[in-house]
Amino acid sequence: MPLGSSTSDGSDSKRQRALPLPRAGTNMKTFTPDSSTVSDVIPSPNFGDRNKGRAPDMILLHYTGMPDVEGAIKQLCTAGTDVSAHYIVLEDGRIVQSVPEAKRAWHAGVSSWGGEDDINSCSIGIEIVNRGHDWGYPDFPSRQIAAVIALCRGIMLRREVPSHRVLAHSDVAPSRKKDPGEKFPWHSLANSGVGHWVQPAAIVRSESLKIGNIGDDVQNLQQALAKYGYGVPVTGKYDGPTMDTVAAFQRHFRPAKVDGIADRSTLTTLHALLASLPPDARAVATK
Ligand SMILES: [Zn+2]
Repeated sequence: MPLGSSTSDGSDSKRQRALPLPRAGTNMKTFTPDSSTVSDVIPSPNFGDRNKGRAPDMILLHYTGMPDVEGAIKQLCTAGTDVSAHYIVLEDGRIVQSVPEAKRAWHAGVSSWGGEDDINSCSIGIEIVNRGHDWGYPDFPSRQIAAVIALCRGIMLRREVPSHRVLAHSDVAPSRKKDPGEKFPWHSLANSGVGHWVQPAAIVRSESLKIGNIGDDVQNLQQALAKYGYGVPVTGKYDGPTMDTVAAFQRHFRPAKVDGIADRSTLTTLHALLASLPPDARAVATK
C-alpha cells in the first residue's frame, strides 16, 4: 500500500514498527526502564539478587547467536530457559530492557575477570541481536552500534563503569564463547568513549609463541594477560586455555587475525593496553 493512501489507518506503519516478538506472560510484572534509550520493556522472569548487594561496575557485551530476533527474545524472556540479559539491542537500533539493572541477570555463565568469578553479580549484560558465527555472522548495522554506544554511555555515567570494564563475553569465558566476535567494532565504541582501546600493532613476520611452547616467555605472556584481567592460569606452558585466551584477546583487541598464536603484534598490543590502564585499574587487576 502506498504511503499516504486514503484507506490507510496507519496500521501498516504500526505493524512495521511493532516488535515482532512474543510478549511476556500476562502475569509478568513490568518495570520502569533504567535508561531513557529504552523503547520497550519486555520483563524476563530469569533473574535474582546480586550477591552481597554487589553494585555493577562492568558492562558485558554479547551477541544473541540465534537465527532470528523472535527466537532470541523468547529465549531471554521465558521462564525455564535460565538465561536473560538486562538489555537487548535490535538491528534497527531499538533497545528492549528485560531485567532491571539492580537485579542479577543470567548472561555470563561460568566466567572470570580480574580475579572475580561471579560476573553476573558485578555486570550489566547487553545482548546485541546478531546471528553469530554459527549462522553466517553478518556485520553489525551502524544504527545498532549507535544504539549500543548511547546505552553504554548512559550506564557508564550512572554506574561509574570505567572504560576498561566494558568487555566481551569472550573475554570472561574464552574457552566457551566467541561473542560478540571479531566483527564487533570496538574501535568505533572507543571513539565515542566506550571501552578501552589502543590502535593494534601492525602484523609483521615475527617469532611467536604457540601451543606446546614452555618457558619464561610463555609465563610472561600469561602474567600479562592475567594482569589485564583474563582468567588464564599462569603455568609457563602454552596449553589449550592459553590459546583460547590469546584468541579472545585478539577477537577484541587485534581483530585482523584471530589464531590463538601470540605473535609480535599481539604482544605489543597487549603491553600497550596494560601501559594505558589507569593506575588504580592495574592495582585491582593484580590483587
Ligand atoms: Zn554471550
